[in-house]
Amino acid sequence: MGAQGDALRAMSRLRFPQNRDLPRRYPELVHPYRNDFQRDRDRVIHSHAFRRLENKTQVFAAGRTDHTRNRLTHTLEVSQIARSVASAISLDEDFTEALALAHDIGHPPFAHSGEQELNRQMQAFQDRFDHNLHALRIVERFEHRYARFPGINLTFVVREGMVKHSRDFERGEIPELDEFLPGLRPPLEAQLIDLADEVAYNSADIDDAHSAGMLPLEDVAAAVPLFGELFEQAEMQYPGAPDHIRAFEMIRGLINVLASGLIEGTIEAAAALQHPDEVRQHPERIARFSPATAEASLQIKQLLRERVYHSPVVLEDRQRATDRIAALFQCFVKNPELLPQNYRDECDRQPVHRTVCDYIAGMTDGYFVKTYNQLLG
Ligand code: MG
Repeated sequence: MGAQGDALRAMSRLRFPQNRDLPRRYPELVHPYRNDFQRDRDRVIHSHAFRRLENKTQVFAAGRTDHTRNRLTHTLEVSQIARSVASAISLDEDFTEALALAHDIGHPPFAHSGEQELNRQMQAFQDRFDHNLHALRIVERFEHRYARFPGINLTFVVREGMVKHSRDFERGEIPELDEFLPGLRPPLEAQLIDLADEVAYNSADIDDAHSAGMLPLEDVAAAVPLFGELFEQAEMQYPGAPDHIRAFEMIRGLINVLASGLIEGTIEAAAALQHPDEVRQHPERIARFSPATAEASLQIKQLLRERVYHSPVVLEDRQRATDRIAALFQCFVKNPELLPQNYRDECDRQPVHRTVCDYIAGMTDGYFVKTYNQLLG
């Protein structure tokens, strides 16, 4: 290890300080054998919203192949990658894991088309839908499982990480988030999540698209030189290996190269920083890919956009989802008496369109289709 080992260990200086008192909205006693982040992780895992990820689309609708990723398996992959990286550079693994498991908890049914359409429907009421804000509403209000308080009472810093994992904001920019230290970068553990997410979906979407027969590995190798190197290595090391085995070799290699690039880029960006507070004060985020992996990641995203996300098969699924979400949203807004009792009660406290949005956003793909078919099918 030598010099590299020293550099890795030295990153522990930027680790989120565990000895700090971690405030929750409602004070709780210390747990005898779990730290605050382990408790937060467990609360996320035991929530309804987490379990529902199992039946929410990641990219491909369920049923295209027998092993297509859904949002739950995607979340587990993000958690695995983020924990490996956090552990390699001596950051807080429990904190990282809690954030990774929560990072997509606010996703509505049907992935990004679901999110875009809900947002479009809300804009007609001068309102909006955003999955990060929705995630906060879930853990602060909708997951009602304690007698003493609403929500699951996660630590402040985990909620801050949830709303900031993919973007920073200034005071007043998103008024409902003004309590979450606007203008400051989130801790390094939270910064890792967005990039671990990128490692996970870039590699997984190549894998799923290849597996569905939509994306030959040769095409990926031609568009992404870094993947081309992995392709050549696999050809040389395992000549004659079946295509799907070579694919596994390359996907495994890709995750490894991207995660290593994330470790390398982050260590380099952090070189001059001595304290976690400096991470927060820094004008830019510290977690980043090395230049070579940043470029590869961009090339993969471009390729996936052209060949997968905008492919006729995926566009067809998306259009169907968009039309149905619009129809069901408008049906409930016009006929709020069709909402379940607990949501009808909510209409006394907040506008109907917001309640309808909350209801639809919480649905799994399967429950959405069932409801749609009952009311409009
Ligand atoms: Mg994600």
